[in-house]
Amino acid sequence: MTEAYGLLPEDWAALCKEAGLPAFRAKQILQGLYRDRIGAWSELTTLSAELRARLDDLAPLTLPREVTRTPSGPDGVVKYLLEMADGERVETVWIPADGRVTQCISSQVGCAMHCAFCASGQLGCVRSLTAAEIVGEVMALSRAQGRYPNNIVVMGMGEPFMNYDAVLRALRVLNCQQGPNIGARHITLSTCGVVPGIERLAQEGVQFELSVSLHAPNDAIRDRLMPVNRRWPLAELLPACDAYTAATGRIITYEYTLVRGLNDRPVHAAELIRLLRGRKARVNLIPLSPVAEFDGQTPSHADCLAFLDALLKAGIHTTMRRSRGRQADAACGQLRLRTQKGPTHGTAEES
Ligand code: SF4
Repeated sequence: MTEAYGLLPEDWAALCKEAGLPAFRAKQILQGLYRDRIGAWSELTTLSAELRARLDDLAPLTLPREVTRTPSGPDGVVKYLLEMADGERVETVWIPADGRVTQCISSQVGCAMHCAFCASGQLGCVRSLTAAEIVGEVMALSRAQGRYPNNIVVMGMGEPFMNYDAVLRALRVLNCQQGPNIGARHITLSTCGVVPGIERLAQEGVQFELSVSLHAPNDAIRDRLMPVNRRWPLAELLPACDAYTAATGRIITYEYTLVRGLNDRPVHAAELIRLLRGRKARVNLIPLSPVAEFDGQTPSHADCLAFLDALLKAGIHTTMRRSRGRQADAACGQLRLRTQKGPTHGTAEES
């Protein structure tokens, strides 16, 4: 038995053949799933009742259930808490900007990587999501919003490379033409620095974007913020990133969360410049969003601008991300953490 959303077009062709169905059934099924966005096989009325019942057994169609939806105000960011069939919950965020929409999806329930400023890391990893559950996050929101997102970022709960096979399969489904058809270059995987995952992705022959959470200009600070650094320090991480760029031609974005006094001083900017100079790299600076579990503080706007300016003057392609969705607990893991400890605040509603 295979979950419907985890299947690629070639899997549907094979499944139909094995079940003795004509090849055109696979096309009808894919159209029902991804063009019409059916929520149950019973809605696929181009098939006979008998065939729909067979599909329930062959490839069950399970959509995650919406538990809460937390609007963030005028910027239009909506954070959803979704429940899987076994009751486990993950977050996904709908982020409109300039007429386009990015959906941030989760790859695991919780996360085992324990990054200091991340609410998901406080939970530990409960389990990895299946490929179908990951695709289901996109299908649930596209049904709720009446459209597919333009971009997908795997930056929600979980470390995607600790759930490598399911994540890659899900992204292939989301990318395929008979599926949601989201362009590979509009799909971004984000890792905290799991070197074997970076090395493996370099060999896949896919054009997905990769972003790496760096957050520190040296091992001493990175060790404090990100335990993963003790396993794969900068001397291993950065060469793996260089090799990824050499193999794929894709330039990596390094995410760098600025924390007041910890990594936002001019000396840190200088160290970061030394680290990245000569590398094909982009840097995305993110002023820290306050998280109850981490006592680091948001840096001043002037310090953020000075950091940005230093990198730009050194010729490093750098942007600074606006902090969006702060009212909606939009840092990863925060909504789920709150619903575990007590009710969500604000406009969350039980459906
Ligand atoms: S930042 Fe990402 S990798 Fe780190 S604990 Fe949070 S979810 Fe896991």
